[in-house]
Amino acid sequence: MKKHNFSAGPSVLPEFTIKNTAEAILNFVGSGLSIMEVSHRGKDFEAVMEQTRNLFKEILDIPQGYEVIFLGGGASLQFCMVPFNLFNKKAAYLNTGTWASKALKEAKLFGETIEVASSKDENFCYIPKNYTVPADADYFHITTNNTIFGTEIHTDMEVGIPLVADASSDIFSRPMDVSKYVLIYGGAQKNLAPAGVTFVIVKTDILGKVERTIPTMLDYRTHIKDGSMFNTPPVVPVYAALQTLIWLKEQGGVVEMQKRNIRKADILYSEIDRNRLFKGTVKNIEDRSLMNICFVMNDEYKELEDEFSKFVSSLGMVGLKGHRSVGGFRASTYNALPEASVVALADAMKEFEKKH
Ligand SMILES: *Cc1c(COP(=O)(O)O)cnc(C)c1O
Repeated sequence: MKKHNFSAGPSVLPEFTIKNTAEAILNFVGSGLSIMEVSHRGKDFEAVMEQTRNLFKEILDIPQGYEVIFLGGGASLQFCMVPFNLFNKKAAYLNTGTWASKALKEAKLFGETIEVASSKDENFCYIPKNYTVPADADYFHITTNNTIFGTEIHTDMEVGIPLVADASSDIFSRPMDVSKYVLIYGGAQKNLAPAGVTFVIVKTDILGKVERTIPTMLDYRTHIKDGSMFNTPPVVPVYAALQTLIWLKEQGGVVEMQKRNIRKADILYSEIDRNRLFKGTVKNIEDRSLMNICFVMNDEYKELEDEFSKFVSSLGMVGLKGHRSVGGFRASTYNALPEASVVALADAMKEFEKKH
């Protein structure tokens, strides 16, 4: 039985991506060699890198003046790479969860870092609003989707200073107005590819303005100049990302993904709200993530948590355990998760309610 994979990351990928990547691992473009054993400087892999970059730009409708690079180190390396390249005197951060807190911690190593608002007081169950971003900060950093707490910023905000986003877990889930940002980054392993490759979309005219010397590998300009080939790129994850991008385009791109994601999230949130056994963990409806749907058992049914876990795993559902800092359950509903999986989960919740 094919599993319903609700894992938060690494997470479900299109079958198209997995099959084509498996094929390239066995026999890359009919060369008789594995993609893992050929030179990344050969014309075949150069073409993969080029196509990945171009399709990435096309699908997200990235305007002129931006570059897309693929790096190692995960989204976590970007927590320091961003300040290395953009932090002069002062930076501002919105603290909406574990990843945002980690980004903030690294920025503090570089100078005056302002936490403009935080939802830590309520275990990050909402997105702070009505804060002021200091006009003299070099940039404002946000996390568009908080993978652990299930909150999401659904719009591309205008803050008057350069905007930087960690979009690890909602990239390609909706159309994004990239022009509102100077830099968007993310690890691939939530909605794009296996772990090992990190994407960075950067407005090139924001670079070269800091006074410090930047180590070569941590300077975005190095990787822009060398087309993400300054050193050996993670070839298999890049190839897989290309397959996901091809799949995305065939499915109708980010406009279609957004429609599907809204539909999937509606099915699940409606059931969470209706079902007397469960409740959502996010305080405001408008902050609910379309990618990571967090819920717990209602207080009077807390003791049923284990039984529900066992019930859903008996139905072939995996990855539903909530992060330890939230507890309960988390259904990650990334692009590649079929609506049928969400329907199966909602049905299981209904059935479980009837039994109790
Ligand atoms: C998973 C995740 C990260 C960490 O990504 P790594 O690639 O493991 O470093 C950072 N930010 C967000 C929003 C994430 O979901």
